[in-house]
Amino acid sequence: MPRPRRLAALAIGLAVALGACDGAQGREGFNLVSPEQEQRMGQEGHAEILKQFGGPYDDPDLQAYVAGVGTRLAKFSQGDQRDFRFTVLDSDVVNAMALPGGYVYVTRGLVGLADNEAELAGVLAHEIGHVQAHHTAQRVTRSTVTDLVVGVLGAVVGQPGVSELAQLGAAAWLQGYSRDQEREADSLGIRTLAATGYDPRAMATMLDKMLAKTRLDAEVAGRDPNSVDQFDFFASHPRTAERVQEALAEVAGAPSGGALGRDELLARVDGLLYGGDPKEGVVRGHTFLHPGLGIRFDVPQGFRLVNGEDAVIAQHPSGSLLRFDLAKGSGDMAAYVAHDWGGQLGLREVQTFTVSGMRGATGLGRAETEHGPADVRLVAIARPQGGIYRFLLVTPPGPDQYDREFQQAVASLRPLTAEDKALIRAQHIKVVTVKAGDTAESLAEGMAPADRFRLERFRVLNGLAAGQGVRPGQKVKLVVAG
Ligand code: ZN
Repeated sequence: MPRPRRLAALAIGLAVALGACDGAQGREGFNLVSPEQEQRMGQEGHAEILKQFGGPYDDPDLQAYVAGVGTRLAKFSQGDQRDFRFTVLDSDVVNAMALPGGYVYVTRGLVGLADNEAELAGVLAHEIGHVQAHHTAQRVTRSTVTDLVVGVLGAVVGQPGVSELAQLGAAAWLQGYSRDQEREADSLGIRTLAATGYDPRAMATMLDKMLAKTRLDAEVAGRDPNSVDQFDFFASHPRTAERVQEALAEVAGAPSGGALGRDELLARVDGLLYGGDPKEGVVRGHTFLHPGLGIRFDVPQGFRLVNGEDAVIAQHPSGSLLRFDLAKGSGDMAAYVAHDWGGQLGLREVQTFTVSGMRGATGLGRAETEHGPADVRLVAIARPQGGIYRFLLVTPPGPDQYDREFQQAVASLRPLTAEDKALIRAQHIKVVTVKAGDTAESLAEGMAPADRFRLERFRVLNGLAAGQGVRPGQKVKLVVAG
């Protein structure tokens, strides 16, 4: 059952993607890694990034378009790294990242958020900047310290499910690039934008838009709009409001006339998948729905749901994590929880229960982590068709441990209704031209999903400030179902 090789790779992948911890004061701008080593780090990390972020988005035209923009930028960038490989990841999380050796990634969520080609180019140029300045290699070097910590934790807990989750938890506490590195990547990116012929102001407008999207996501999840989490671009690229100001200041004297490429980008994002891929299950606010499994459940307020490859993870800013997955097995759920799954945790209070006609069992345990002890609750539910639904909660001990909310989440597990199935329909971005009489409000009215955030979603997607209207002839992005 334990998969140490894979877990180690996962730790590296996460450390790279989410920002490696640099507890020690590393010297910046000082590269200890040879180009060959960088290349190897990139190759090893590449497979892990693809795995963690849903693989490449299945649209060869879009991949070729982004690679074309990126390759043009790389040509005009400063630095010794000449070969870059650009990938659009099939994830609705708005994120971008880079690995040593020239691997640069943007998610389809990020591409869909961009208003024009120059904004997309701004993000790519920023990541190219990290690679050219060897920030990525420095981070990987420093992350070995983190890997060791995570490795020890895994050995102590000695339980695959828990250690894998603990790594996600550990990543949540990690910090990203240093402030100076972010500033340097922004600055390099702005220069690359200008040198390539784009309007360098696009860096600031894209950062602004990503900040607005993060705040909207937090609001939809019932969290404080000022909070960010590990899955966001801003967990690895912090202090964005400041960076917007700095980016604006840097281009204040720049001549106007740079290209925006709005029509070019909008033509590519028309029809782009928005939100989750229904085949893999979808997240709608606090609810996870899976058409293949035919089930749904709700997570507590304040938890952010992310649909991963092997599991659904919900995270709370306090550090609590909820994980849902499907395991092989059958029979007595109490025995499964106490022995097969939680045998090494010395579970207490093992109890059986029934949810939506299915038999389940749960127990509480305690695990040691590098952040001190954590409470662990395991829940196993026998699937009528065979297999076991598993819920796992890891939470720092204390008054905010969310155990009651977690049990409510488990109790909400039920088969899908026809109404639920309607929620599962795929959503796409549709580009339309504003007609006379259209307003932001009337356009947002037809957007999916039909929740109270439609107008705000329309504004964020189109980079409109509060109260800013639309004008006839303008192209705008909508989110439509089906
Ligand atoms: Zn960055």
